[in-house]
Amino acid sequence: STFAEIRLGERLSDNIRRCKYVKPTPIQRHAIPIAVAGRDLMACAQTGSGKTAAFCFPIISGIFRSRTFQSPSRYGQTVSFPSALILSPTRELASQIHDEAKKFAYQTGVKIVAAYGGASISHQFRNLEKGVDILVATPGRLVDIIERGRVSLRMIKYLTLDEADRMLDMGFEPQIRKIVERMDMPKPGVRQTMLFSATFPSEIQRLASDFLSNYIFLAV
Ligand code: AMP
Repeated sequence: STFAEIRLGERLSDNIRRCKYVKPTPIQRHAIPIAVAGRDLMACAQTGSGKTAAFCFPIISGIFRSRTFQSPSRYGQTVSFPSALILSPTRELASQIHDEAKKFAYQTGVKIVAAYGGASISHQFRNLEKGVDILVATPGRLVDIIERGRVSLRMIKYLTLDEADRMLDMGFEPQIRKIVERMDMPKPGVRQTMLFSATFPSEIQRLASDFLSNYIFLAV
């Protein structure tokens, strides 16, 4: 199968071609159509499986198509209202997701900002003020930014937990729960949640049953 069959829209398809992605990986082939259809998803995915594109394509395509990305009138405001949040365990991974997502979103108008610990928070505040549709963050830094009143999660429509098992191993469960409680759109069909994990211990299954609704489980 090809990316053309998945119907992500012309602009995103051009960007996929520019990234030299020709054939979807198994996780992409299965996850993208489910996510584009708006379903919640729990997916088994290792590093190197192509999971970044599997969750980024549907989010970028959804924001682009619904034209819900930030209008210039929102730029320069101190509180940001992203419509998508991608949580990742480490700054390295968050930075990688940010860089890939930027390539995928090229010329779509969809704005991506990364916020993680160990880097200047005031620099991240300046980036947020320029407008953010997709926020890629580590849990600890995000809680800090929320508590300083610089980001509101009220408008989050897409939530992705990447490498969820690693986030729990690192002790981030309290922060993750605090973050999800800040979202105003917990109702089925309103917020769309995707959980990616390499393993499925009972703690991950508990997160899935707490955060996902009527989800599809994918193991490829
Ligand atoms: P990930 O598992 O998301 O970290 O991706 C692993 C690597 O594979 C990254 O360097 C991606 O850019 C690359 N990649 C992901 N999907 C594809 C694809 N469909 N075709 C070619 N390369 C890909």
